[in-house]
Amino acid sequence: MGIFKGKKTEETKVKTIGVLTSGGDAPGMNAAVRAVVRTAVHAGCKVIGIRRGYSGLLEEDFTEMTTRSVADIIQRGGTILYTARCAEMMRPEGPEKAAYICRKNGIEALVVIGGDGSYRGAYEISKHGINVVAIPGTIDLDVASSDYTIGFDTALNTAMEAIDRVRDTSASHERCSIIEVMGRKAGHIALWCGIANGAEEILVPERYDYEEQAIIDRIAERKKLGKKLHIIINAEGVGDSNGMAKRIEAATGLETRATIIGYIQRGGSPTCRDRVFASAMGARAVEPIWTSPRRLR
Ligand code: ATP
Repeated sequence: MGIFKGKKTEETKVKTIGVLTSGGDAPGMNAAVRAVVRTAVHAGCKVIGIRRGYSGLLEEDFTEMTTRSVADIIQRGGTILYTARCAEMMRPEGPEKAAYICRKNGIEALVVIGGDGSYRGAYEISKHGINVVAIPGTIDLDVASSDYTIGFDTALNTAMEAIDRVRDTSASHERCSIIEVMGRKAGHIALWCGIANGAEEILVPERYDYEEQAIIDRIAERKKLGKKLHIIINAEGVGDSNGMAKRIEAATGLETRATIIGYIQRGGSPTCRDRVFASAMGARAVEPIWTSPRRLR
């Protein structure tokens, strides 16, 4: 969890907080929103729900949240607050305007649920005097300050099950399959699925050296030994899976197909792990805001 302290904090308890979800949606974001709202309301805070991430903050797309407004969402994928990518925040005036809008609306502290980009945005807003607590919510497991990010476990299990299905049909047809999972800049989903699905090759952006010939050679070698099924897990940041499939088929004579799992990995009901982590992080995020703002200094 990231705690970004604003420059100035009143010595009084915070009365109003804002909560938003930002960047790619992740299963468990709703559970985190629910925990933030209920913990804050219980502590006597007013909670402003900010729709569509930083875009909604800059456009003042707000809704007051109560314990009732977060009922029946702990099990739901996506985010009831919607999410967005906001180009304006990347410009120097974006975070300054965000802080101004917070002050104008009486929002004394923000809880931001999102990935590494959202963390950067949170940090930039804090430089303009607003306290921000960031909760890691992304399927990518790539927030440097956190061992876990909400949504990773659900995405992983969804991808793993999808790969099992592709494996069944690949085995029946004696094919080579390249299965592309999400992770443009982080190969955690590919790595975990690669191990869990017993893949022959795992291509991750952190390590892949683009030695495609070496992969082809290994497939040809295994084929000679009588192996009929070859599974390659490819993180989306590594090359073009369809092109790679064509080249492997041409070089080895083995029928090769590419399957891109895509957004299926981002949706769906969060696993138990994601619900519990999201609930714990959501509750914990509110604590430093309302118990003692001085701690954030
Ligand atoms: P995911 O990893 O799941 O895609 P993310 O939070 O990393 O989530 P990004 O699109 O990288 O997703 O970031 C979300 C938003 O955060 C951006 O659209 C932008 O508004 C804001 N943001 C990102 N980087 C910065 C930055 N350096 N300064 C200010 N705001 C930023």
